[in-house]
Amino acid sequence: MAADIHEKNKSDFYTLEDYEKVSKIDAHLHVNTEGKQLLHQAEKDNFKLLTINVDYSDFPSIEIQNEVASNLSKKYPKQLAYVATFHMDGWDEPGWTEKTIEFIDKRIDEGAVAIKVWKNIGMDFRDKSGKLVMIDDPRLDAVFNHIKKRNIPVIGHLGEPRNCWLPLEEMTVDYDREYFTHHSQYHMYLHPELPSYEDQMNARDNMLAKHKDMIFVGAHLASLEWSVKKISEFLIRFPGSYVDAAARIGQLQYQSLKDRELVRNFLIKFQDRVLYATDIMQMNNENAEVFANESHKLWLNDWRYFCTDDEFKVPDLKETIKGLQLPKSVIDKIYRRNAEKVFPKFKSM
Ligand SMILES: [Zn+2]
Repeated sequence: MAADIHEKNKSDFYTLEDYEKVSKIDAHLHVNTEGKQLLHQAEKDNFKLLTINVDYSDFPSIEIQNEVASNLSKKYPKQLAYVATFHMDGWDEPGWTEKTIEFIDKRIDEGAVAIKVWKNIGMDFRDKSGKLVMIDDPRLDAVFNHIKKRNIPVIGHLGEPRNCWLPLEEMTVDYDREYFTHHSQYHMYLHPELPSYEDQMNARDNMLAKHKDMIFVGAHLASLEWSVKKISEFLIRFPGSYVDAAARIGQLQYQSLKDRELVRNFLIKFQDRVLYATDIMQMNNENAEVFANESHKLWLNDWRYFCTDDEFKVPDLKETIKGLQLPKSVIDKIYRRNAEKVFPKFKSM
């Protein structure tokens, strides 16, 4: 009898061995080359991919990113979809709004499944008077209204992890320490004259309050990664919103190290609103074979964290963590069904 119960409980959870059998979506990564290795690895690992264009100077131009993404989606129609973005250049010139809407329309007509806005809005791009343009700027409303009319989501990476406003030694995870060491222009602790963390979060929330009916995905746990309580409040306040976990799973692990049930309960409670994602970035200068292999390791490691109750080491933390062992039904939503709902193209893939 006891054995029976044990068997029944066991079948509620996926194992490490199930990894390849379960169909999954990585809802936020950046494939900036047309090499086949990553796509082949993803196929082996049973992953469909959402590659996202970004207005980022470390990346190829928006036009090149778009061309690569669009070519990949034609070449691998069963495996990859893409998200387009737009330029802030020309903001001060008359007609920016009309031109931007036309640009966005073209991208959607060509097959982009969403539009990305990035932290350059709020943290980098300035108008001709030298003022930072924030995401709740009224001039962006027409653009968001149009995207809503086209019935596709906006993915917003706005602001940064809260660690960005802390000195390196106070940051919670190695990933952020590494990133801000190498991108000191974005390390806001060094730039106290720029908007605060709260300013960035408020601007995003003001924008969403104006566009309640917009489908919005807060990239990187909506920059509220440091507190599942804050993410919960955000998701309750904006019922049309989702969050992706790209590059912030370490932050969930950091919190679950202290209180595993807190993080586990958060993911169960908001099982319809969280999207699995990694933020893997493939660039031209990478060895494609090595990169595909690294991606596989990362995907498998995350699967182990979410699905099993194994105790093991993760790249972001020094301590050994214990997996969350979420029920299969929750895993299916976070790993596939939520992304299919937000980006319906995946359903037909
Ligand atoms: Zn990203």
